[in-house]
Amino acid sequence: MHSPQAAVLTFALLCKVAVAAPHLVIVNADVFTADPARPRAQAVAIEDGLFSAVGTNAEIRALAGPATRVIDAGGRLATPGLIEAHVHLGSVLPSPPLAMPGLHFPGPTAEQVLAAVAAAAKAPGDWISAWIGPIVARDQRNWRVALDAVAPDRPVLLRGFWGHTAIVNSAALKRIGIPEDVADPIGGQWGRDASGRLDGRADEGASSIPETRATPPEPAKLAVPFRDAAQRYARWGVTSIHLMNSGKSLQLTLDTLALANTPQKWTIYSWAPGAVPSIAGAWAGMDAAPKRLPQRVRIDGPKWMLDGTPIEQNALQREPYAGRPDWRGRSNHSDAQLREILQTALRRPEQMALHVVGSAETDRLFAMMESLAPAAAWKEKRVRVEHGDGILADTLAQAARLGVVVIQNPTHFPPAGAPRRPTDPHFLLKSLVSAGVPIALGSDGGSEEASPFLNIMLASTYAASPGEALSREQALLAYTAGAAYAERHERRKGRVMAGLAADLALLSQDILTVPSQALPATRSLLTLVDGDIVFEDPALSGTARLE
Ligand SMILES: [Zn+2]
Repeated sequence: MHSPQAAVLTFALLCKVAVAAPHLVIVNADVFTADPARPRAQAVAIEDGLFSAVGTNAEIRALAGPATRVIDAGGRLATPGLIEAHVHLGSVLPSPPLAMPGLHFPGPTAEQVLAAVAAAAKAPGDWISAWIGPIVARDQRNWRVALDAVAPDRPVLLRGFWGHTAIVNSAALKRIGIPEDVADPIGGQWGRDASGRLDGRADEGASSIPETRATPPEPAKLAVPFRDAAQRYARWGVTSIHLMNSGKSLQLTLDTLALANTPQKWTIYSWAPGAVPSIAGAWAGMDAAPKRLPQRVRIDGPKWMLDGTPIEQNALQREPYAGRPDWRGRSNHSDAQLREILQTALRRPEQMALHVVGSAETDRLFAMMESLAPAAAWKEKRVRVEHGDGILADTLAQAARLGVVVIQNPTHFPPAGAPRRPTDPHFLLKSLVSAGVPIALGSDGGSEEASPFLNIMLASTYAASPGEALSREQALLAYTAGAAYAERHERRKGRVMAGLAADLALLSQDILTVPSQALPATRSLLTLVDGDIVFEDPALSGTARLE
């Protein structure tokens, strides 16, 4: 006999069981969990966007209810969703770029660029644009004068493909409204000749000003490259993206992401250089951002560029650059400015990302951090050092003590046998891990992002410096749990663990065992973000079945 209360209780229990049954289970997988307590598993259950259970095939199958979809992974490797920890997207020049020989390295010569601009100037049209490489970027001639001679009436923009530098002529300066007495933006420089006249150079914080003023970007146009990139990322199993928001306002990027409606989780590292009237303004811009953000989008930062790069030779190094005995590069900020940046970061709740590449700029940063606050306070802050190329063997311990997280870009590594000079970047990798410095990996893609599996190949072979190569497992950890730590979300994602976001990639091949050269061909067959299938390869259907 059932009392009414017992019936209610039974109904409640039934509901509870029904609610608790996972909506999706994946069985017969080789799950690399990134969870040290259970490094490998066979199966996962997913409910309400989270992994609800991780275990053996038998344990997880037992949880399935009548409405549960069961996917048989066919024994393939499943990993936490990959996290691209450093990418730029949506750089646009004001006109289709002139074809340039030698890109990206060593790039066109000055003569090749001037000849191409002269030829373009003979045809009707408006802006003349081109991507340039290191040869032109390092050429110290007065480029404004040189470009005016071949294109006196047409605005010309030459842009370093890696950011950091741009070159314009007089017509371009006039078009974008840069007066002769323009003040340098925070963290940037307008180049001048000996007489004080602008020489056409726009470096660092000034370098993105010409392109953004020439063609104010529109969300509808920018949404196209964002959506394309997101699709490629979904096919690579990338479920989160750390976007370095270079050259764009926060609002523009938010509007673009709202339109693009991509499946990934985005952390936008808001960008200070060139865009803010004061150092405090970088944080004020974040405060002014709308509170309602597009789905799966969050804002963090800001990101500051503390120096340049070895490509244009503006990263501040301990040693002079080859062939320039009096030039070690330069800092983008005075001591007072750097101090204000660091002190503000200490007061604010947000994380901070710092592009710092030169060894001497890294020394300067670490010394100032130590002078301003105890190491424990910095460790709590988890300052991101983007690239980290200036951390040398003798500053590893300091980096670990200050708790900085290094985001390294294996696509920057030199090829095997490349001649090394003291000012060449050192790109420590395994030494960072051995010293206890947390790392994440990213492509540093600009107009084109790179496959995480290419980066995992480069990080785990490191042809130019095999002693610094990571193991495949270390590289994969950097792309998952390490990157989640790098954005302070390790309690939400980055590992396959009950209670964490169900972000997952089921891979086409076992990236822990295939030959290195096969790694870049890896694809995801099934990509989940918060338990939603955002990409499913038809090849998986052969092994997937409804039960
Ligand atoms: Zn970058």
